[in-house]
Amino acid sequence: MSRTIVEGGYVATVDAAGTEHREGHVVIDEGLIAAVGAGPAPVAVREDAEVVDARGCLVTPGLVNTHHHLYQWLTRGYAQDAILFDWLTALYPLWARIDADLTRAGAAGAMAVLARSGCTTVGDHHYIFPRGSGDIVGAIVESAARVGVRLHATRGSMDLGASQGGLPPDFAVETTDAALAASQEAVERWHDPAFGSLVHVAIAPCSPFSVTADLLREAAALARSLGVRLHTHASETVEEDAYCAEHFGKTPTQYLDDLGWLGDDVWMAHGVHLDSPAIARYAATGTGVAHCPSSNGRLAAGIAPVRELLRAGVPVGLGVDGAASNESGQLGVEIREAVLMNRLRTGADSFSVRDALRIATAGGARVLGRHEEIGSLEPGKLADIAVWRVDGVEHAGILDPVAALGLGAMPPVHRLFVGGRAVVVDGELVTAEERTIAEEVAAAARELAARG
Ligand code: ZN
Repeated sequence: MSRTIVEGGYVATVDAAGTEHREGHVVIDEGLIAAVGAGPAPVAVREDAEVVDARGCLVTPGLVNTHHHLYQWLTRGYAQDAILFDWLTALYPLWARIDADLTRAGAAGAMAVLARSGCTTVGDHHYIFPRGSGDIVGAIVESAARVGVRLHATRGSMDLGASQGGLPPDFAVETTDAALAASQEAVERWHDPAFGSLVHVAIAPCSPFSVTADLLREAAALARSLGVRLHTHASETVEEDAYCAEHFGKTPTQYLDDLGWLGDDVWMAHGVHLDSPAIARYAATGTGVAHCPSSNGRLAAGIAPVRELLRAGVPVGLGVDGAASNESGQLGVEIREAVLMNRLRTGADSFSVRDALRIATAGGARVLGRHEEIGSLEPGKLADIAVWRVDGVEHAGILDPVAALGLGAMPPVHRLFVGGRAVVVDGELVTAEERTIAEEVAAAARELAARG
């Protein structure tokens, strides 16, 4: 199969002009988008093409997830009523017993659900590497290949145990040197910078309260010497603000700024508690934000100032965050969550369904540095495409198909293409057996709980 035509659906390209076609087509050639336009595909491209009938569907760019912890798929349902610091303290002992085999199973489950919710690019943040736990980053890469999604893995780390003033217990952390060496090794082994790459690797010390200043400073230098991006959690909760005030006499943004951690090669998860000077610094430096509305709600962290971030020109993407703080794990659902949460904060006309679709696609692509390749339906970009069915009982008759996604129930995915390859067909994963993945997840979750 070299050419596929998707036609008859409502096409929301999410290009810079926000072009939409009430009834349009997308031509996929050798994994790339060859043409996008109104009406049916031209006769000249139809010969030998597979035609996907998208009548009754909304066609969008594949969604880009900018923050996740795939291994947490195995620890859903724990510490249900806790705020971040108490939730972390409850879960660290369990997470510290993870290994590569368990991570492989959890990651496959999380990525299967992401694919079924319209996600074609998966950002992951893995920061817990118990001694003797095997090749965890390799296991995540393997699961991404099995499910068929594009992966932005990170080699995360923690080196600030409780005895040194950090939040995690000492047994859950690595030494600074070990974390840096392993980060370099993961980048050298797995990062592929080529156009159309299926695996990127970034360097991602966990948070200001779980890593040392030395690790942050040296990780930034290492990432820049290797030409990869930097990621961490920042400004998630008021408790983090208080921690940084007490330990560093600074806000999280001032602290990270002083350590070389603002720049257009950096993206932060959450950015909930950003004041005006912090937003201005993010904008001036091009630092990106992964907005994670469900997780922020689950942990009662607050609502990120997305309207202000976008107005200032800060790159903003969408993220599900780890499933231990967002048991849904569905990226499509986060579009509606983003609409509702941001309206609660700044008003009904402050954040449209198209604003939410844009951060979920083009915004996320920019946050991950992949905006030349993905995030919109434009000729020359990779054929990462979600085709949502909006003629079922949940959505039939709705005035605006984009509102079906942004205000209605998450539509079933009729087709999901990653680089032109069909990953989901008629709502089901076709690259791997869903039942097998579910059974492996259940067994791995039981095994991890038994180790706790
Ligand atoms: Zn997170």
